[in-house]
Amino acid sequence: MKTQATDQYIDEIKRLKAQKNAIILAHYYQTGDIQDIADFVGDSLALSQKAASNSADIILFAGVRFMAETAKILAPEKKVLLPDLNAGCSLANSCKASDFEKFLKENPGRTVISYVNTNAEIKALSDIICTSSNAVQIVESLPPEEKILFAPDRNLGNYVLNKTGRDMVIWNGTCHVHEEFSLEAIIRLKRENPDAKIIVHPECELPVRMVADFIGSTSSLLQFTKKDTGNCYIVATEAGIIHQMKKANPSKSYIPAPPIDSTCGCSECSFMKLITIEKILNCLKNERPEINIEKEILIRAQRPIMRMMEISEKLGL
Ligand code: SF4
Repeated sequence: MKTQATDQYIDEIKRLKAQKNAIILAHYYQTGDIQDIADFVGDSLALSQKAASNSADIILFAGVRFMAETAKILAPEKKVLLPDLNAGCSLANSCKASDFEKFLKENPGRTVISYVNTNAEIKALSDIICTSSNAVQIVESLPPEEKILFAPDRNLGNYVLNKTGRDMVIWNGTCHVHEEFSLEAIIRLKRENPDAKIIVHPECELPVRMVADFIGSTSSLLQFTKKDTGNCYIVATEAGIIHQMKKANPSKSYIPAPPIDSTCGCSECSFMKLITIEKILNCLKNERPEINIEKEILIRAQRPIMRMMEISEKLGL
C-alpha cells in the first residue's frame, strides 16, 4: 500500500523531472511503484533503444549499473544517473575484464558476442552485444561458418547454441536469480495447478528450461501472457515482471516460480531491489550518483552496441 510520504515523493519526482528535463527509464524487474512512475518501462533491448533516442537532458536509470552504463555509452552527452551505485549484477560481476582478455587469447579467431549484462570494459572487448530478446537472431545473422565466443551467461549461451547449432565457446557465468529456480517446486506447483503454463527465461538452468511451455526474454514472456488463451502461468524469471502481466491481464493468475533456498515463494533480484522511490527522489534532486565511463572504453563500447541495434532494426526486433 502506498504511504502519504510516498505520494509526496512521487509529486516531487514529477516536479523535478519537468524542471530538469529528465526522464526515468525503468527495467521490468523494478518494484511496481517504480515502474508506475517511469516514463518508459522495458527490457534491456527496449531500454537501450529508448536511451539512444530521447530528447531529455538527464536519464535517471531505475535498474542496475550495466544498464545505466549502456545508456551513457549510447547517449554520452546526457547526464545519466543511477540512484544506488551498489545496484550491480551477479552475472556482470562474474566476468572481469582481465579474466575475459585471457579467455579471448585462449580462444582466438572467434566473433565475440557479449550479453548486455556486462560491464563497459567487457563491451569494449566485444564485436557485437546482444540481449535475451535478440541473442538467437544476432547469432543467426552471422555466416554459418563463423566461430563464436559467447559471454557471460552459460545458460543463455547453451540455449542459443541448441537453437542455432553454431560453433560456440561459452563463458561460465550465471545470474543468481535465474540459476536458483527449483525444478522440484515448479513441478509441485504444476501438479497443484494442472492448467498453468510454465514460462521460463533462457537464463534458467537446462532442467527448468526442459519443463517449459514457453521460453523467452522478459518482454517475450510478457507478450506471451498477453496473447495466450491460458489463464494461469508459473513464471520463472524475476518476479517484477508480474506487475506488468497483471496490469495487462488482471483476470489471469501468475505464480512466481520459487527459488531452491527460500521460504518466501518468490524470486527477486537483490540488486534491482536496491532502487527505491526515496533514492530516486534524492538522486534526481542532487543529480548524483552519476555514471561516468573512461572516454576510450566508452568509444570502444559504442561500436558493438550499435552493431546490435543495427541488426535488431534490420530484423524488426
Ligand atoms: S536478475 Fe540476474 S542478470 Fe538481471 S540484474 Fe539481477 S543478477 Fe543481473
